[in-house]
Amino acid sequence: MTHQEKVVSVLRQATADGVLGQDHPVAGFIDVQGIRDSVTALHEAFAHVPDALHAFAVKACPLVPVLRLLADAGMGCETASPGETRLALAAGFAPERIVLDSPAKTRAELREALDLGIALNADNLAELDRIDVLRTTGSRSVVGLRVNPQVGGGAIAEMSTATPHSKFGVALDDPGARARVLDAFLQRPWLTRLHAHVGSQGCPLPLIAQGLAALYRLAEEINAHVGGRQVTSLDLGGGLPVNFSDDTTTPTFRDYVRVLTDTEPALLDGSYQVVTEFGRSLLAKNGFTAALVEYVKESGGRRIALTHAGAQVAARTVFMPDAWPVRVTAHGPDGRPKTTARVPQDVAGPLCFAGDVVAHERLLPELSEGDVVVLHDTGAYYFSAPWAYNSLPRPGVYALLHRDGEVLFAPVRTPQTLEEVVQESGLPHAEALLKGFGPSGRS
Ligand SMILES: *Cc1c(COP(=O)(O)O)cnc(C)c1O
Repeated sequence: MTHQEKVVSVLRQATADGVLGQDHPVAGFIDVQGIRDSVTALHEAFAHVPDALHAFAVKACPLVPVLRLLADAGMGCETASPGETRLALAAGFAPERIVLDSPAKTRAELREALDLGIALNADNLAELDRIDVLRTTGSRSVVGLRVNPQVGGGAIAEMSTATPHSKFGVALDDPGARARVLDAFLQRPWLTRLHAHVGSQGCPLPLIAQGLAALYRLAEEINAHVGGRQVTSLDLGGGLPVNFSDDTTTPTFRDYVRVLTDTEPALLDGSYQVVTEFGRSLLAKNGFTAALVEYVKESGGRRIALTHAGAQVAARTVFMPDAWPVRVTAHGPDGRPKTTARVPQDVAGPLCFAGDVVAHERLLPELSEGDVVVLHDTGAYYFSAPWAYNSLPRPGVYALLHRDGEVLFAPVRTPQTLEEVVQESGLPHAEALLKGFGPSGRS
């Protein structure tokens, strides 16, 4: 089955089941076999590297059933907040397969990780000082230091982590920084890992490889400095870009390994244990968003389809349409591809601000009320990370399996009800501003 045929069969089943329809005008779908295939491709690309830990970056899809699936498929997990760590534990990841990378870890967060044996990467030298105080001799946590090799940015500034002024890691080329890093390792025999995440979307592979080659050279330099093999593992981060323009997966994990190896042959030769932290490249192409067209209108001579997919499920695309274009396809109410003549149309969302448009003047079969639009490749960072503007409920997310020509669904996230929206919007404190004041503000 082609991607298009799969999408059509999912839409047909989803509209028949009512998971997509008048009561639920937008929903997210995740392809379970697709995720398993992506995980397999990652493992195969690194098959020659002994003992690699592939940690999924939770922020790309913070949904417990998906994390559970990834754990079952042999992945570890990268977390960047106390909430993500809680999700990883709830999904059943063993603490030693979790890597904590929060950019602003509190003392409580550090203590929890060190107590549970979760691996962590300090973002900066001040954080290492905190770990000195909090770390008990019994802690099994692998502790690393994140560095910024400052190799420069890619096409999307907001996605570029290795720029001269990035907020992440120790900026290696700043005056005196290298010496301070060497010294930090010399003083801490338990500091055994180096971490860099040179990403992400928009960053070409040679740039990522250049940053990781610098990471390798730093590890060698540290080990020479301390006179032993203290640094034993390299955490290479994630950041493999995704092709959002058609169905093909490019670059592949194999391409990534080839470019890394061509740039620094020793990087993956087994002398260091390797950790990866891919997110988008594992999930993006394994999910899509479907939404009903509510109305169609003309404005200033332009056709506009008012749909139920806007910034609440595609925030980046709406706010940065040039950096994050998504493919949109047009389908009839039963999911079949529309065959009406193509005309330029704005595909707008339901939010109450003028910029809420997911595709501008896109050439699509002419849409009408009741049709369905599909936003492709939204399995990472889109419907799984909704935005609560206009108090729109979080849409349902469904996992799907194709079996014997049939589409089977399993729930991943229940659509939020309006009662839940009201509840989380302070309903328990409804009277508080009239009579609820107290010294602590917690009443
Ligand atoms: C976001 C992030 C990742 C994952 O990035 P992708 O582009 O989704 O692969 C990995 N590591 C760190 C530290 C991150 O912040």
